[in-house]
Amino acid sequence: MTWNEYYMNIAIAVREKANCLGRKVGAILVKENRIISTGYNGTPEGMLNCTEGGCVRCKNREKYKNSIGYDVCICVHAEQNAILSAARFGISIENSTAYTTMRPCFDCSKALLQAKVKALYYLHDWSHPVPELQTQYALIQKQFPGGVKKINMTDPRSHWANQTASKKESSLPPAIKIKSKKL
Ligand SMILES: [Zn+2]
Ligand SMILES: [Zn+2]
Repeated sequence: MTWNEYYMNIAIAVREKANCLGRKVGAILVKENRIISTGYNGTPEGMLNCTEGGCVRCKNREKYKNSIGYDVCICVHAEQNAILSAARFGISIENSTAYTTMRPCFDCSKALLQAKVKALYYLHDWSHPVPELQTQYALIQKQFPGGVKKINMTDPRSHWANQTASKKESSLPPAIKIKSKKL
């Protein structure tokens, strides 16, 4: 297993706690080969979980389509949570590398860029539905000195992570089956 795959597997594990009716995302920040922060998406501490109806935008996805209305969404993105945890504990993320299970959105890309995160690795692609904004998005992503790269590996929980509740399947993740080996 390469280091990139190793870290992406950890971001996938972090994603397990995501509680959002939208796509589930996990993110970690790595510096000098050490994980310095992690985050998954969901409502702020102390507020009702998104999966329990805590976020007006997430529960009205017909009105607030994909990539629209981020400013009124109370769900904190995984990358934002990783940045904010580092801020809370006073950890510099300058020159760190972000591993995220989904390509960072517009807002997260600019936050990561301005915090001087040097490179991004993602598992699932994301693009903005409005062409001119997609062009701008590409410009932001071009600014990362270490680049923005996709890691090609299989995601065993892709279906759960990438379905949104508007598809009206189950909004609750299926239980994770962990095979335990008898010692
Ligand atoms: Zn949500
Ligand atoms: Zn985001």
